[in-house]
Amino acid sequence: MQEQTDSWKEGVCAVGPAESLKGARVLVTGASTGIGEQMAYHYARFGAQIVITARREKVLQQVAEKCLSLGAQKALYVAADMASESEPAQVVDFALEKLGGLDYLVLNHIGPSPFSMWTGDVDHIRWLMNVNFFSYIQMAWRGLAALEQSRGSLVIVSSLLGKMSSPFVAPYTSTKFALNGFFGSLQHELAMNKSNVSLSICTLGLIDTDSAMEKVKGVTNIPAYPSSDAALNIIITGATRQLDLFYPWFTYVVAASKDMFPSVTNFIIQNSYTYSP
Ligand code: NDP
Repeated sequence: MQEQTDSWKEGVCAVGPAESLKGARVLVTGASTGIGEQMAYHYARFGAQIVITARREKVLQQVAEKCLSLGAQKALYVAADMASESEPAQVVDFALEKLGGLDYLVLNHIGPSPFSMWTGDVDHIRWLMNVNFFSYIQMAWRGLAALEQSRGSLVIVSSLLGKMSSPFVAPYTSTKFALNGFFGSLQHELAMNKSNVSLSICTLGLIDTDSAMEKVKGVTNIPAYPSSDAALNIIITGATRQLDLFYPWFTYVVAASKDMFPSVTNFIIQNSYTYSP
């Protein structure tokens, strides 16, 4: 899988933007910053038509302007709060109306969550589930018919923490496990229905976005990988209609080893962090 990805990337560098993404109609969530922002810039370089969303309108406007300067055929933005019951579906409707359909629906946003031991805040987990999970399934359902029509791709940005638990992230890891469970099931159902829609689930390790770096600063030496490269790998995974992505590659090994060698894996995880009670 890695070799295929590398040659695709080389092809992109050698011949310029991949033809399949030129003019593609794309909706990216959580695109005001971090990996989502980088995905918007890559899609722009490929000449896509993009709708981006997050809560901060001013920042979205700046990202959209940069997308146009990088070569996007269209770059529109819509501010929305994914904790809301109605706004996730409204965002999909906005993209469908403005782009006249959808080829890629890339669900990437996450709400802020503390990096600390859990102290019993159930309301926070309920809220985070709305943002990180329920809005994903609402948006996927709203966009599915259009993706079916365009033979499009649904791309879910998940985490190694959706496959393996770790300390300090109980609320976040719960939402990512929920995503993996739900969309893993949907992958089967789409295949059994011979659907035109490809569904990719992306498992990421630590990526050097500001929000992630702020959380782990001084707490761990786990290596962080570049957000621009992570973003490009996610886009390639969607464009090549692969079922999954493991980025960086060793997240695959880590995810597999936790079932094969649970005690060793638990020892390594618990000793990867600086913590004294
Ligand atoms: P960031 O925290 O950098 O960005 C989060 C994005 O979501 C922002 O655009 C933010 O914009 C938006 N957002 C936050 N709350 C809401 C809300 N209530 N409604 C709508 N939008 C919201 O995240 P990353 O780039 O680090 O992560 C992107 C994806 O990659 C996530 O799915 C994450 O789980 C995954 N991932 C990241 C890893 C990492 O180490 N960075 C590791 C593994 C997976 P705004 O504030 O303007 O709303």
